[in-house]
Amino acid sequence: MTPLRISQITGDRNVELPVEVQCPFCGEWFTTFVDVSTGAQSYTEDCQVCCRAIDMVVSINPRTGAPRIATRRAY
Ligand SMILES: [Zn+2]
Repeated sequence: MTPLRISQITGDRNVELPVEVQCPFCGEWFTTFVDVSTGAQSYTEDCQVCCRAIDMVVSINPRTGAPRIATRRAY
């Protein structure tokens, strides 16, 4: 999927973009969706493979608007 530019997403209220993340527990990659309209954020989401809780720390690239996620073990 082609990353969206910020000019394409500005003005939308609910813009969810897929981001590939690696589980810090099992090492598997899976796709999660980030609402980029809320900007930088963090939340906890269960791994789609091993179901353990992962802290997702989201940052938004100010030039491209592309979200990036750092993962760490929630517990
Ligand atoms: Zn996992």
